[in-house]
Formats: sequence, C-alpha cells, structure tokens
Amino acid sequence: MECDGFAVRLDWPAVGRSGTVRHEFTQFTTSLRRAARRAESTRRFWSAGPLRPLAVTVVPIARVAYRAHVGECASARCPTTAPLLGMSADADSQAAQHPG
Ligand SMILES: [Zn+2]
Repeated sequence: MECDGFAVRLDWPAVGRSGTVRHEFTQFTTSLRRAARRAESTRRFWSAGPLRPLAVTVVPIARVAYRAHVGECASARCPTTAPLLGMSADADSQAAQHPG
C-alpha cells in the first residue's frame, strides 16, 4: 500500500482488563511538515493534563488506511514512526503487509 500522507499517532497507556496499549491516528495530512507541527501542538495539548499519551508521533500512512483505521486499535502491524527515523521496518511485518 502506497503511503500518500502522514498522520499523528497517539499511543495510549493500557487501561482496564484488556491491558493492551492502544493507538489511534489523527489529523491526516499530505505534508510531513504540517504533520510534525500538529504532533508538536498535540504533545503540548496533552502535556497539561493528567491523562497523557505514551507517545505522540508522526507516521507515514495511506489515506485509505487512515480512513479505514478503527478509533482505538491494538494491532502491532499498524504504521509507526520508524520509517521516518530511518529505521528499517521489521522484515516480518513488511512481508505480512505486502505479500508477493
Ligand atoms: Zn491500528
């Protein structure tokens, strides 16, 4: 799947019985610079409150994937900020996302 944009990813601490860290994607944009600015202001917004995300990151994501993504999700296969940091993505999850 082609990543034609960026989103601000919020990772939330585990709450309740499920005990899983969940994430959501917000503020889709096609501009990396805009996404970075939004992430920065989102970070500031949450830093004032008692409830804080574990992480606020910018992730490359396709518009269709962003639209299809469910609100709070625990999948480890969703986009992370790793590619933007120049880190090579996990080989196994790459294969799972792009068969063939
Ligand atoms: Zn997800």
